[in-house]
Amino acid sequence: MTDKLYERDSHIRRFEAKVLSCEKMPSENKSSSNEEALFEVVLDKTAFFPGGGGQKADGGTINGIKVTAVKQRGDEVIHCIALKLTAGESVIGEIDWESRLSRMQNHSGEHILSGLINSEYGFDNVGFHMGSEFLEIDFSGKLNGEDIKHIEKRANEIIAANNPVNILFPKDDELDKITYRSKGELSGQVRIVEITGADRCACCAPHVKQTGEVGIIKILKFLPNRGGTRLNVVCGMDALEDYNRKSEELSLISRAVSAKQDSASKAVERLVAQQEITKQALSSLNRSVLEMRIASLPERVEGNICIFESAYFDAVCARALANEAVLHTDAIAAVFCGSDREGYRYCISSSAVDLKEKLCQINEALKGNGGGSAVMIQGNCKAGEVKIKRFFDSFK
Ligand SMILES: [Zn+2]
Repeated sequence: MTDKLYERDSHIRRFEAKVLSCEKMPSENKSSSNEEALFEVVLDKTAFFPGGGGQKADGGTINGIKVTAVKQRGDEVIHCIALKLTAGESVIGEIDWESRLSRMQNHSGEHILSGLINSEYGFDNVGFHMGSEFLEIDFSGKLNGEDIKHIEKRANEIIAANNPVNILFPKDDELDKITYRSKGELSGQVRIVEITGADRCACCAPHVKQTGEVGIIKILKFLPNRGGTRLNVVCGMDALEDYNRKSEELSLISRAVSAKQDSASKAVERLVAQQEITKQALSSLNRSVLEMRIASLPERVEGNICIFESAYFDAVCARALANEAVLHTDAIAAVFCGSDREGYRYCISSSAVDLKEKLCQINEALKGNGGGSAVMIQGNCKAGEVKIKRFFDSFK
């Protein structure tokens, strides 16, 4: 049996222990995450948390060698490692503190929120997932924007108060007298995590010792979920990273729109409105160009018609021009929009030539791709204006 140091003291990062056993790992126990591990080591005591209650197992080293997985088997904690040890020898274990602290900040933050929501609104935590970017916590009832603001403030007040977090191992009769949250039927010795002023909950995972260690709780988003509410939350160092990422993004936006950060959204709104006006103006200009082009088409054209327009000439106008131009010839009418540098969009129309049949030939000659029907094909091509014109001079 392993003495589980993490159950009583979540801040032991380094510990000395004796090896109880070191067995060659059965091949069926290997997984992709512990491929390198050859041995399963059991120690007389350990600070390595084997995972549970929604929190991942710890990483770290034993005698400087990476522990690739930690798991619980019965009362024992198994450390998977590529290091052969001898029963009775002393080893030094060191857990990956940065990851552990981040997980404790998030997990304790989740307990604070769940406890407060439970006591203030009576809703239960019905789902909890610690993702790589944020926590996902599901509650059994509906919360609105005001509730979220209120709970977030209350949760951060608990952090600022730096309240103690107590770990209790109550006897059965003591357990009967206290109220606590729990996710189901419990058996054996129940471990209670008590966050003063916020929560009391049965949980097996290591938590911070004082609420101040959580740093900050930020609710990023809340959304309806199966009749209840799902929260996306970040705590502690993860919240700082999230803040940094978003600050960087906002600073890029504000630079791009030449506005102060606190008025960047207004500047973006103005840009979007301006873009809408520009779009309408361009569309009206395109229609004028279309009318002009149609009016200037000769009554009859011998051979193919090949018209070039700018990249701003939209697809609807290009199609209308091709459809009109084809009435002036017994061959093909082709409209190309773009430039030699950027390439062209094409729209080709014909009632005399089966374009579907000629599609491959056209695309090959113009270094293009596209498709369509026997009477109209559309696509893009890389060939330049001179080459395109030369091709349609003789194409039948
Ligand atoms: Zn928990």
